[in-house]
Amino acid sequence: MTTAPATPKAPRGPSLPATVTPALLERLVARVSASPDAARVTTTAPYTGAPLADLPVSTPADVEAAFARARTAQRQWAATPVAERKKILLRYHDLVLARQDEALDLMQAENGKTRRDAFLEILDIGIVSRYYARTAATYLRPKRRRGAIPLLTHTTELRHPKGVVTVISPWNYPLSMAAGDTIAALMAGNAVVQKPDTQTGLTALWSMDLMYEAGLPRDVWQMVIGRGSSIGAALMDNADYMMFTGSTATGRQIAADAGKRLIGASLELGGKNPMIVLADADIDKAAAGAVAACFPSAGQLCVSVERLYVAESVRDKFVAAFVARTKKLRIGAGYDFGYDVGSLTTPAQLDTVTTHIADATAKGATILAGGRARPDLGPLFHEPTILTDVTPDMTLYDHETFGPVVSIHPFRDEEEAISLANAGSYGLNASAWSRNGARGRAVAARVHAGTVNVNEAFAAAWGSVDAPMGGMGDSGLGRRHGADGILKCTEAQTVAHQRIQGFTPPAGLHPEKWATLLTRSLKLLKAAGLR
Ligand code: NAD
Repeated sequence: MTTAPATPKAPRGPSLPATVTPALLERLVARVSASPDAARVTTTAPYTGAPLADLPVSTPADVEAAFARARTAQRQWAATPVAERKKILLRYHDLVLARQDEALDLMQAENGKTRRDAFLEILDIGIVSRYYARTAATYLRPKRRRGAIPLLTHTTELRHPKGVVTVISPWNYPLSMAAGDTIAALMAGNAVVQKPDTQTGLTALWSMDLMYEAGLPRDVWQMVIGRGSSIGAALMDNADYMMFTGSTATGRQIAADAGKRLIGASLELGGKNPMIVLADADIDKAAAGAVAACFPSAGQLCVSVERLYVAESVRDKFVAAFVARTKKLRIGAGYDFGYDVGSLTTPAQLDTVTTHIADATAKGATILAGGRARPDLGPLFHEPTILTDVTPDMTLYDHETFGPVVSIHPFRDEEEAISLANAGSYGLNASAWSRNGARGRAVAARVHAGTVNVNEAFAAAWGSVDAPMGGMGDSGLGRRHGADGILKCTEAQTVAHQRIQGFTPPAGLHPEKWATLLTRSLKLLKAAGLR
């Protein structure tokens, strides 16, 4: 691993950038729905371990109060024409782009990721907000459906907002995860009460603050801060719909609780994502793609790759190219675009990464690159790590590490590659590489994953926001993006207006004759190819 020349030797790390002023912190902290005398929780900056912000901690009573305000505000918001909501969202889009430096600084300060990784979140939110601003009216407008009796039944499908939606988001993509799903819920006419992970609460609050500036009435989007064990129940008990992104373990709990309340829930959970390098892949491109797939946000990306399957015939060439590229990555802390790999976010993540690697090497895995924590760069840095000789008895063989660690496995033929990729309980994202696009797409369609990229790491599928994104198996339930992403935030209602004659026999007609008539009608409709 090389480090850029400017990397400070001492683990002091860079001081906070100029945009993260006390005034900004004060404004954001004041946006938390909590009482004035609330207890405080201190977050730390991953680059340095220094205290970053004191956030008020919301209580269950604060959550109840936020929902009460949200419920009142939602009625007005649902009556606001979609065209007005669209204007607000497009203003938010412009504000995010114009003020991106503030967001990049906050994301880096809270999460420890590189600026280029943080910028992907700006890009994501720009794409998602423009998409739902421009498409919501089409998704939400009343739609004529075929009536029960041709010409006589006038049937319309309506889409009503759910009401108040709870959004629970993790710390790994603080802007994307906080704002992406919320945008769809708001455009559908819902209010949102959100609990971002405390560690990255500032970025989430910044996003909400900008939406207020764009014109969103304040009570329509509110934010609470606190542990799931303390306010999770209140967030569930008051929700009309639950949008959760986080670990599979928590997702199962959320699903069980939503089931008890009979409310809908979408669950965007963990993964152990495979990448398949077929024998006819462009090896240089695949090696560059593997770097992009495995190490963004130091591997703390739900769709990043942790299992690499490479055709035996090109294995040596691929490994040489991948290892060489990985060793060139610049790892370090800096509020500029100078680094390729940043810090892990929490001591718990660093612990998982080092424990998984130690377990694997103790059981016979070989390190091809990286393998060490880098306290010389900052308290939570870890080198991008490539392993081989990884076997099923090692924890990281099939458990999500959520760090900059990937294992390489050879395969003999396409069938074996697909079967290896489909092993395990997850099914979030995957990637297949081939010079033959049709072959790549055919392999992709057989991989058990909600999104599969061909000759790309993850951004092709994630960025295709007109198409659904989400997990199969233990990776989740429901989808974000596209029609699914907004329609799940609505209640479908069918209004059927029966004109003149319904299914009961007209006065004076014997029911048996009526049944014969209807039977003939059914046959005629089928013969006419109508139904
Ligand atoms: P986590 O489940 O521990 O926490 C996620 C969020 O849920 C946090 O805000 C946390 O405070 C909250 N929470 C925890 N327990 C709760 C409870 N009982 N009630 C209500 N809220 C509760 O997950 P994490 O470790 O913070 O996040 C990393 C995980 O998220 C990884 O597994 C990653 O793959 C996954 N993830 C998935 C996606 C996706 O789109 N599928 C995206 C990002 C992250």
